[in-house]
Amino acid sequence: MPNMSLVKNPMPTQSPEERIKNFNEVALGYTEEQAIDEAKRCLNCKNKMCMNGCPVKIAIPDFIAKVAEGKFEEAYEIILKSSSLPAVCGRVCPQENQCEGRCVRGIKGEPVAIGRLERFVADYHNKNAQKAPMKPLKNGHRVAIIGSGPAGLSCASDLAKRGYDVTIFEALHTPGGVLVYGIPEFRLPKDVVKKEIDGLKELGVKINTNIVVGKTLSIEELMREYGYEAVFIGSGAGLPKFMRIPGENLKGVFSANEYLTRINLMKAYKAESDTPIMSYTRVAVVGGGNVAMDAARCARRMGAEVYIVYRRGMEELPARKEEVEHAIEEGIIFKTLTNPVEILPYIDKENPRSPGNMSVGGMKCVEMELGAPDESGRRRPVVKEGSEHILDVDCVIMSLGTSPNPLIKSTTEGLATEYWGGIIVDENGLTSKEGIYAGGDAVTGAATVILAMGAGKTAANAIDDYIQSKKRAFD
Ligand SMILES: Cc1cc2nc3c(=O)[nH]c(=O)nc-3n(C[C@H](O)[C@H](O)[C@H](O)COP(=O)(O)OP(=O)(O)OC[C@H]3O[C@@H](n4cnc5c(N)ncnc54)[C@H](O)[C@@H]3O)c2cc1C
Repeated sequence: MPNMSLVKNPMPTQSPEERIKNFNEVALGYTEEQAIDEAKRCLNCKNKMCMNGCPVKIAIPDFIAKVAEGKFEEAYEIILKSSSLPAVCGRVCPQENQCEGRCVRGIKGEPVAIGRLERFVADYHNKNAQKAPMKPLKNGHRVAIIGSGPAGLSCASDLAKRGYDVTIFEALHTPGGVLVYGIPEFRLPKDVVKKEIDGLKELGVKINTNIVVGKTLSIEELMREYGYEAVFIGSGAGLPKFMRIPGENLKGVFSANEYLTRINLMKAYKAESDTPIMSYTRVAVVGGGNVAMDAARCARRMGAEVYIVYRRGMEELPARKEEVEHAIEEGIIFKTLTNPVEILPYIDKENPRSPGNMSVGGMKCVEMELGAPDESGRRRPVVKEGSEHILDVDCVIMSLGTSPNPLIKSTTEGLATEYWGGIIVDENGLTSKEGIYAGGDAVTGAATVILAMGAGKTAANAIDDYIQSKKRAFD
């Protein structure tokens, strides 16, 4: 008997009062009973629209049917055929625009909580699984992957499962890309990411950290001197944008990426950490996307009063609705229709030569009004006459988007890119150079985990075809 409730089983969460004092995960996950009850809301439609919304085509109704029967390990096996990072995707995928956005139960109520069920199944497996995955037989071919974010991990996983000898080269000291340095612990615990990466290592994938391709060694060297037959570039889009307003070089101005990296990778929230982030009391985050919400919610947990400064209105905020709601619950103040024009230095009148005078002492802003729509279809913000005012802050975090780092392009002759730095690829992820593939944010600019994973899978298929066809020609 299907469960005809019009609403999802609610997700148990930490209360806002409790969670702003810690970095622990906000959403606590379904119990077995809640998962089975939610799974029974799925109608197992003939026309599986939810699957059309999933970029990696997980057999969603099939895994949900197994959950409804209480066969959680079988559900996990079904998900694993399409996704190498289910505990991650169950937590951070924007399901409302993907699988859940297509669910027929969403027409007259809330869709089935597909993301929450995926998370439940992956967590169940990670807690209870006894047996290590079978190591595939090696086929004798070597592939190098640049970057250990979701694009690189998913490409590595698919190739390793087919017997390739895969090595990931990662610039940072910890693998995972944005999953470890960007998305905060309270949305995606780092041991969840580690567990998924450990699964890849068990498949035989090697991960070499602290290697910046383009500096430590080049793609050409990887192929010519180290014998990799193909390379996948999954180097992401980690280069931050700034506003180019006066004062952006003051102490206390961060890009959201730097701020989040300090907190997530350098654990600035721990008392023994030596980063200076702990001392800020009034923080402005400039921008209105998901990254801005993450930075603001981290700053709030560090004890600061936090403002989101955004030049359009609440309706135009690009962040996920759920993220905005969480930020509001946590006491973050939204200064919408507001735009910074200058970051002001702190002036110690008693001691004008004090080094503290190079720190942020406030932010000059103007109010905005929404005019006629621009090329993007959104109403263009225009400055309201005589609205200049000063926001009293000691830290400014710029969250205005990112673009791909030009390092790989500048060190790889003939690699074609867009004017903004995105690597140009065909529908299979092949770049302008033979044997070199790319995918994820390095190609699309900042996007989503699941799209990066989808691109990694597509390229893995193409790399397999490429190497096997070369082998056949050689045989
Ligand atoms: C703060 C934040 C929050 C986000 N939240 C969400 C969310 O909730 N849901 C969602 O779907 N998406 C979210 N995203 C977007 C998502 O994380 C990215 O789209 C996704 O991680 C892109 O994957 P990728 O593998 O292409 O790149 P990345 O995850 O950026 O990984 C690239 C890796 O390559 C490494 N690298 C770069 N250059 C080199 C080099 N020259 N040599 C060696 N290694 C190199 C980097 O160090 C990095 O580890 C968020 C992004 C940010 C910044």
